[in-house]
Amino acid sequence: MPMYEYQVVPDEKGCETCRGGFQILQRMSDDALTHCPECGASIRRLLFPVGVATPKTDSELKNLGFTKLVKRDTGVYENVTRTGNESRYMEADKPHTVPDLKRKIRD
Ligand SMILES: [Zn+2]
Repeated sequence: MPMYEYQVVPDEKGCETCRGGFQILQRMSDDALTHCPECGASIRRLLFPVGVATPKTDSELKNLGFTKLVKRDTGVYENVTRTGNESRYMEADKPHTVPDLKRKIRD
């Protein structure tokens, strides 16, 4: 289910919840909410679901710190987002070819 973001309409006073905007999980087929569940002010749904937009290219993924492995053969994966001295190919039975995931995890 996608996450949608709502915000109070500009000419409504709203409450703390809807003034700053809030997010809610909804089915795509669900009707958009029209009123804030807290204060009843008119709200609008922002156009696009939040968090569904995924980076498309390998370099975008790389810049975000993701590791993408593409299967090339049985037990062989190409690390298309490799950085530094990571191995280009990860092979199932060679631990030193595994991407340096620990180094990439950060806040
Ligand atoms: Zn509200």
